[in-house]
Amino acid sequence: MPPQRASTVRATVDFDKPGKQTGFIQVPHSSHDDAWGVVPVPVAVIANGRGPTVLLEGGNHGDEYEGPIALGELIRDLDPAAVSGRLIFIPAINLPAVMAARRTSPLDDLNLNRSFPGDPLGSPTQQIAAYVNDVLFPLADAFLDLHSGGSSLAMIPSAIVEPAADPDRMRRNTAAAQAFGAPVAVVIDNRGDPRTATASAARAGLTVMGTEMAGAGTVSIEALKLCRRGVRNVLAHLGVLPPEMADPPKAPTPIYELASPSAYVLATDEGVFEPHHENGDEVRAGEPAGRIHFLGDPSRPPVELAYQADGILYGRRHPGRVWPGACCLVVARPLEGRRRPERRDVRNRVRLRSQPGHRLLHPLDEGPAGAVAQ
Ligand code: CA
Repeated sequence: MPPQRASTVRATVDFDKPGKQTGFIQVPHSSHDDAWGVVPVPVAVIANGRGPTVLLEGGNHGDEYEGPIALGELIRDLDPAAVSGRLIFIPAINLPAVMAARRTSPLDDLNLNRSFPGDPLGSPTQQIAAYVNDVLFPLADAFLDLHSGGSSLAMIPSAIVEPAADPDRMRRNTAAAQAFGAPVAVVIDNRGDPRTATASAARAGLTVMGTEMAGAGTVSIEALKLCRRGVRNVLAHLGVLPPEMADPPKAPTPIYELASPSAYVLATDEGVFEPHHENGDEVRAGEPAGRIHFLGDPSRPPVELAYQADGILYGRRHPGRVWPGACCLVVARPLEGRRRPERRDVRNRVRLRSQPGHRLLHPLDEGPAGAVAQ
């Protein structure tokens, strides 16, 4: 761990104090209309007795809502006496992005999740990343980063496994993701990007898990229910909450992965994308994935796009408009070395329910064991 870099960011809470505290992480931001103001990033600490420290983050992207809602509820409702250890909540970590309901911060146009390890002398988003990296990660044993699909993606609600080269860390990350109790867990390396919060936390040696709840810039009732239960499940798994506060999954969660770059179906042209499948559908490499239409030139035939991987459709672009390089579809494949689940296995574990423009996967409480045993 490098020595902490000098920072002007200050927290109004005492991370060493027992009990429940709420306050702010004050990020100096001197703008045209506010010379000595701060960006007040909300923070809460609930600490009691001995046990691990878990850092819970929401609002890394400002248009992803299930995580921040579930964390706010825990901050308000949790009795410190139920905690063994310490919980540090940062449910709206990129506050300017959260208040603007945008993936990126309106102050500097930066994506917090491509800004780690940050810069304590940089822009607001870079300062926030540096504070999380330099101050909060060293306090913590485990890190939960709660994402949803955001405005541009509708996804299968899922727990995310942060890849780790060390087998013991990979086992811990996988176990934490499986404890969440989502219909599927997916190993995601974000195209190998080292600038994400979870990659940074993994480098710091923390046990790391994430989520992708439904997305499309809205609040999913089913995904919020899953998120509420899942966070408690993971905290009980980590030993910070008692087992009676958890409702752990009855069967092992099947594990998939995004095999970069073949997982992504990218647009080749500017136009409007018509997908051929719903989330959860099984797809094959080479199979037509969708078409790009040219609404301003009806005489021009649409351009066909094809899948590059076998698996299930894991995420679909939400807005219709695309341009060259835009991500239209994401395919998750069963984790390498594991048996490929038959279509009926996936269908047995999940129920497809119609949503506006897409379908989402939901866990069946009485579902049989997953096809891919851990
Ligand atoms: Ca996200």
